[in-house]
Amino acid sequence: MSSRTPIRLGIVGVGKIVRDQHLPALEKDADYLLVAAASRNATVEGVANFTTIDDMLASDVAIDAVSLCQPPQVRYQAARAAIEAGKHVFLEKPPGASVSEVEDLKAAAAQNGVSLFASWHSRYAPAVEAARSFLAATTLRSAAIEWKEDVRRWHPNQDWIWRAGGFGVFDPGINALSIATHILPPMYATSATLHFPDNRDAPIAAQIDFRASSGQPVSADFDWRQTGPQTWNITADTEAGQMLLSLGGARLEVDGRVLQEGPDMEYPMLYRRFAEIVRAGASDADIAPLQHVADAFMLGRRSVVEAFHD
Ligand code: NAP
Repeated sequence: MSSRTPIRLGIVGVGKIVRDQHLPALEKDADYLLVAAASRNATVEGVANFTTIDDMLASDVAIDAVSLCQPPQVRYQAARAAIEAGKHVFLEKPPGASVSEVEDLKAAAAQNGVSLFASWHSRYAPAVEAARSFLAATTLRSAAIEWKEDVRRWHPNQDWIWRAGGFGVFDPGINALSIATHILPPMYATSATLHFPDNRDAPIAAQIDFRASSGQPVSADFDWRQTGPQTWNITADTEAGQMLLSLGGARLEVDGRVLQEGPDMEYPMLYRRFAEIVRAGASDADIAPLQHVADAFMLGRRSVVEAFHD
């Protein structure tokens, strides 16, 4: 695809993230022309609207690529249909409801000569690259991930998130893991505890212990029951000092001194990366964060906690 022709894009699953992030990012990006939307109950102004992706793909609207922003449980079928129709695919995070379905999409994309992008927006937070460089230049002793937020504030009435395949607290937790797998040495889970509300299929909290392949302990504490100030921190004890990556990756401090912070550019950068891989004829579909979630479910001890009502 020529570097001057805009990518004609269809967007699927018009909900919170599409309105908050995708549409504003696309509006300002000359690399894209939003031409269509597919959503059962919502429409996007100024484009061709369909209720299903199948109708969108069968229409005479010319589309080069699709962004799939529905809940993870229904994303695979849509991705598979788009790939088979020769479209490049941008997957919201998490890229699927299971590891094997994403592996299948990777193979299908390669077979059909289209680009597959497993987007991990938190990796594009403004201080993440600086944290990665800091850690690469020192020796890690241990690290701790603490991702604690109020589910009622961030996910009001999102029924899908509590259903099997909806990830529960791993929906935000996988953002932390997407950063951790980018900045820390390779690691593997050694034990986990998952806390399931009595009336739900997905966990409201989880603790995971990892070990880096170079031996250091890494812990993760995810909790959706935190009211008041919200915590999205990764700390690391290193030979060069105490690193704190806070605000979901927006600020880096070492021994209390701020080394990097900046404005949120996560979605403009995701779309820049997607255009780059489409034009290069490449794919970018790292499943490491998803694999860690799957491992936590496999290894995890189940604890049943108080029922959750929105
Ligand atoms: P949402 O507001 O619930 O929107 C998802 C949309 O998908 C719905 O509005 C719905 O639109 C459509 N949909 C299609 N099949 C559906 C089904 N079976 N159940 C429910 N909705 C269905 O969710 P969201 O917050 O935008 O999250 C969507 C994805 O983006 C998730 O994977 C999430 O992890 C990711 N994400 C969210 C955020 C955030 O801040 N919310 C941030 C980053 C990434 P129709 O009813 O019109 O079809």
